[in-house]
This record gives sequence, structure tokens and C-alpha cells, in this order.
Amino acid sequence: MATSNERTPLAERVEQLLAEDGPLAIVAAGDPVLRRAAEPFDGQLEPALLARFVEALRVTMHAAPGVGLAAPQVGVPLRIAVIEDPAPVPQEVRIARGRVPQPFRVLVNPAYEPAGESRAAFFEGCLSVPGWQAVVARHAEVRLTGQDEHGRAVDEVFTGWPARIVQHETDHLDGTLYLDRAEPRSLSSDEAMARRWAQPTPAAAAAALGFDLP
Ligand code: ZN
Repeated sequence: MATSNERTPLAERVEQLLAEDGPLAIVAAGDPVLRRAAEPFDGQLEPALLARFVEALRVTMHAAPGVGLAAPQVGVPLRIAVIEDPAPVPQEVRIARGRVPQPFRVLVNPAYEPAGESRAAFFEGCLSVPGWQAVVARHAEVRLTGQDEHGRAVDEVFTGWPARIVQHETDHLDGTLYLDRAEPRSLSSDEAMARRWAQPTPAAAAAALGFDLP
């Protein structure tokens, strides 16, 4: 906990970011902030500043648009992320991917572990790696522990697409990008995704590009 009235260096950094209105700039791959483990959140931002920062993350995620955003992606190395997915997808995609709506949530100091053996492989992308997507096999179900933005303990099982989102965002806080876990031969431009690989599952892409699915 911050125990004095002095602002921490991270608080100064966040104040600077929030000095301008509108979405924050998103850091792209190649910046070391995306490759370091973020600091556990322990009061470095006082409650009012934390609330303003979380709101800025939400606005930035919506503007991108994306379904999750981790603090290091705006250059702040703290273990905080936001998620929200209205899941505006066709029914067949919803069923194949388990892409159900995920309400807005703030993840503070999140950690996950698999809940079961099952894995699911789908294309995903990252706001810090614009223009590309790749197939990542992830735990189909995870148990997420940590806190919310009010410091309340969280211990919850996520399945389907929300499980993918919480794994992707928590990985960011450990300096891991989705590409580290991706099937390299699946790497596809946004154009190729739109033109060829919009199917509910990556089966056709796996056959055509030559990679395995779990
Ligand atoms: Zn990402």
C-alpha cells in the first residue's frame, strides 16, 4: 500500500495519461512494457485515480474496438485489465466458439488455472498486434482468481469465449502475447481473415495452411 501522501511514480504516469480526454494510445508489440511482468496492484493509485484509470481503459477498449485491454497496453505496468464483450456474432459462431455476451469487468491481480482438460482452438487477435490474427489453443475452461476494482476477492470459473478473453488479458500482465502461444502457420492478415477464414471454426484454415488443431 502507498502509505504517504506522495504520489507514486505510477500514479504520476497515470495522471499524465489522463490529462488528455478521449481514448488512450495503445502500445504496439516491440515496446518492452508488453514483455515485462506487471507489478501487482497494491494501492499505487488512490481509489479516485484508479476509478478514472479504469474508465479510461473502458473507453479505450470500446473505441479500439476490442473485448479486453490490459494496463500494460497503455504503457502502465500494473496488474489491471478490463473485459467486455457484447458478442455481436451470428448464432452458428456463438455456438461453435461459445461466444456469449460478457458484461464489463475489471480484473485486478488476476491469475488463472485450467478447470478441466479440454482445450479450444480459435483465431484471435490483439490490439497491440494490429492487422493480424492467429489460432491459439487455450484451456476451454479456467478458474480465475484475484480481485475486482473495489478490492473484493474474485474466484470464478469462465468458459467459452470469456475464458479465452481472461486468459489473453491475464497473459498480458505476465509479459506474454498471444503470438507466443499461437500456431505460427495459422498467422493470417485481417484481409485474409475476412476473405477466407470467417467460418465458425478454424478447421478449413488448418487444412489449407497446414497446422494441427487439438
Ligand atoms: Zn492483447
